[in-house]
Amino acid sequence: MIKVCKFGGTSLADGNNLRRVKEILERDPARKYVVVSAPGKRFSADPKVTDLLYETAQDIIEGTHVREAYSKVADRFRSIVRELGLGTDIDALLESTRKEMEQAASRDFCASRGEYLMGRIAADFLGIPYIEAREVIRFRADGKLDGEKSYARLRAALKGKPRAVIAGFYGEDEGGAVRTFTRGGSDVTGAVVARAVGADLYENWTDVSGFLACDPHIVPSPAKIRSLSYKELRELSYMGANVLHSEAIFPVREADIPICIKNTFRPEDEGTMILPTSRCRPDGAVTGIAGKKNFTVILLEKSLMNAEIGFTYRVLSVLARHKISFEHVPSGIDTMSLVIDDCELGEGMLETVKREIAEAVSPDKITVYGGIALLAVVGHGMNNAVGVSARLFSAIARVGVNVRMIDQGSSELNIIVGVDSADYERTVRAVYEEFFKKP
Ligand code: ASP
Repeated sequence: MIKVCKFGGTSLADGNNLRRVKEILERDPARKYVVVSAPGKRFSADPKVTDLLYETAQDIIEGTHVREAYSKVADRFRSIVRELGLGTDIDALLESTRKEMEQAASRDFCASRGEYLMGRIAADFLGIPYIEAREVIRFRADGKLDGEKSYARLRAALKGKPRAVIAGFYGEDEGGAVRTFTRGGSDVTGAVVARAVGADLYENWTDVSGFLACDPHIVPSPAKIRSLSYKELRELSYMGANVLHSEAIFPVREADIPICIKNTFRPEDEGTMILPTSRCRPDGAVTGIAGKKNFTVILLEKSLMNAEIGFTYRVLSVLARHKISFEHVPSGIDTMSLVIDDCELGEGMLETVKREIAEAVSPDKITVYGGIALLAVVGHGMNNAVGVSARLFSAIARVGVNVRMIDQGSSELNIIVGVDSADYERTVRAVYEEFFKKP
């Protein structure tokens, strides 16, 4: 039995927490490979080491020398080494890291140093070998993970090593430059390692006891999700349920390796299991609710739009030309809406897009609505279940919320509802009540 364990930033925030990590590992001999994040927050106003390193990168890029932010990073690591009573020559390590950062002058390189330093310290503390992520996690020139190369390199590096620590979040590209995943990317490293060693389970240790059925800031103490499928997880995490990086499932899904979300601070809690669809037994029609605010809808109207060959193609070409990704394109016979995340629309871009769409397809009317929130109601239990959408929309109607957009994926796995951002929280509460509180 092999388990790969990834520990998040809070689990590694100080020496005390690292001791918990050690205990967790010692409790189960199957926990052989350990992937670490950079130290996270110890209390709510505490900065994350990775954020300080991005500031350090900025210092280097602007002023070519390192200032305050790095001294905070150094203090964090010094105190961890001191708390653990390790013999690691931390001053030398911090000094060589500072020099390397100044030389590289790259955001990715600087950001990766939190995981690098943590990996070195954790390996010393746990007394197991450290594997350098640059050697084993490979990126392509376009900055995307090269899965096949990474699996092969990892297998070679871990051969004959029954246990090891690997730093999360970064790797190296073909040109020898350090690259990172997007934020929270140590989850992806953990999944890549799990896949490479053919793990039986990928344990993702964090500071919550798994996924909740909806955002606890909106509904106090929502139900815990005991198990969900890779697909449900993808939908929920893409739509803002951010317990796990939304790309972390791909490497493990291909090999049917389950993921278990566990809480470092309550290791006895059961956590949430993420499984192949075939092994999931939905508890009810809806597994979870997630959502995000700040979307813009561009509504196009044109008589006989349905008969105009290439209409959608020409509209979407405008977005593609400006490298704008869209979320949904719900359409009617003579109408079509483009739902776009506001962060895709930089300064003046909305006006440019409107103008170019008007030139490309001559619509009768273009209307823009801002301030839209999207709510995703996700669950395999909806598949072939009669009446789920009736319950959903009745619940929304009961609280007097106007639905601005509806989209149902063809897999019957989710229903996306667009509402005004101001109505978002009460819509979530109403939907939660309907599916999780009623017998
Ligand atoms: N340390 C990185 C971040 O804060 C990556 C990670 O923790 O997974 O985003």
